[in-house]
Amino acid sequence: MARAAEVAARFAELYGYAPDGVWSAPGRVNLIGEYTDFNEGFVLPLALPHTAVAAVARRTDGVLRLHSADIDAPLAEVRVDELTPLSDGGWAAYPAGVVWALRDAGHPVTGADLHLSSTVPTGAGLSSSAALEVVTALALDELFGLGLTRPELAVLAQRAENAFVGVPCGVMDQTASACCADGHALHLDCRDLTLRQVPFDLAAQGLRLLVVDTRVKHALGDGAYAERRAGCEAGARALGVSHLRDIAYEELPASLPKLTDEKVRRYVRHVVSDNHRVEQVIGLLDSGDVRAIGPVLTEGHASLRDDLRISCPELDLVVGTANTAGALGARMTGGGFGGSAIVLVESAAADAVTKSVLDAFAAAGFTAPRVFPAVASAGARREA
Ligand code: ADP
Ligand code: MG
Repeated sequence: MARAAEVAARFAELYGYAPDGVWSAPGRVNLIGEYTDFNEGFVLPLALPHTAVAAVARRTDGVLRLHSADIDAPLAEVRVDELTPLSDGGWAAYPAGVVWALRDAGHPVTGADLHLSSTVPTGAGLSSSAALEVVTALALDELFGLGLTRPELAVLAQRAENAFVGVPCGVMDQTASACCADGHALHLDCRDLTLRQVPFDLAAQGLRLLVVDTRVKHALGDGAYAERRAGCEAGARALGVSHLRDIAYEELPASLPKLTDEKVRRYVRHVVSDNHRVEQVIGLLDSGDVRAIGPVLTEGHASLRDDLRISCPELDLVVGTANTAGALGARMTGGGFGGSAIVLVESAAADAVTKSVLDAFAAAGFTAPRVFPAVASAGARREA
């Protein structure tokens, strides 16, 4: 049975009637532009073939019921008018937060039954949380005829994660999940949420992008993300701009000496240079020189490791080993402190590079990583 039909059948078993529809939303990897989103800069994510699939039915009696096939938790049931931010609802806080954010924005969401199943690995920096939020938002938008645009749904999903779940993420993950297109990376300007689909068909170029999930669980909730964020805000204030996006790469040599705090100086150097790397990568993709993005990815990794200091030994081992084994470039992706790295390789070298990484992990005594190709896939959509 196709996945959508399976999820619909499970919904029917659970709730005793058929869902109104089935929707999906993907996880993502970010090609370049890390910790730039909340600085109102640029990012360049692509959607993965891994998706959260949700069967959903509309209710009009104020009841919200939520169930995940992937988590050992009972059916969650709440009244939509009793949803309270930051009440630690476990996994259910993500879809419940979307209902709360929609209602808080004045949209008449009067209840729903939802059952979901996801193939996006959780806590691997691949945005399983955004997939969950966006699939919920899209389903409710259609079921209640809200007529919201994809970027609007993404912003509401982000609000759910920030204000209801309590995770201070930027808008990239939800926008990627909602707006990406098959065969394309998404150039997103996080200042005004304008976006452009950038052709990204690696197979046609004889190339492959590998995702290496180190299986080291990142925990963005801990203070490190908030600390980097606060450091960036302090840097912007010290330089007299609203956000670091407003510092051009060419201004860095003049700007850095004005920052007295060594840590803030490093954070600013990372954000401004990574923003520049997004533009470099886009220029190379537009000109068809795809192989040349490899070294830019590796520079991005060095910046995350040395300036932002959010890497870890496992991520550094992936990047170092892959590059030594002949990869064109590699970097950690996502929030850091674990999660996943991406590796750009010639298709013909993919197996050899993968083996080198697996061997290096075994030799270091690390848990074996999970390696799979990132094929640029479609964003959220209705499945049935
Ligand atoms: P990431 O988004 O990088 O995967 P997060 O910590 O932001 O990591 O989100 C992971 C959380 O999202 C999980 O701990 C869980 O609460 C929720 N989640 C993700 N996928 C599922 C799923 N299939 N079923 C239930 N909850 C899920
Ligand atoms: Mg997440």
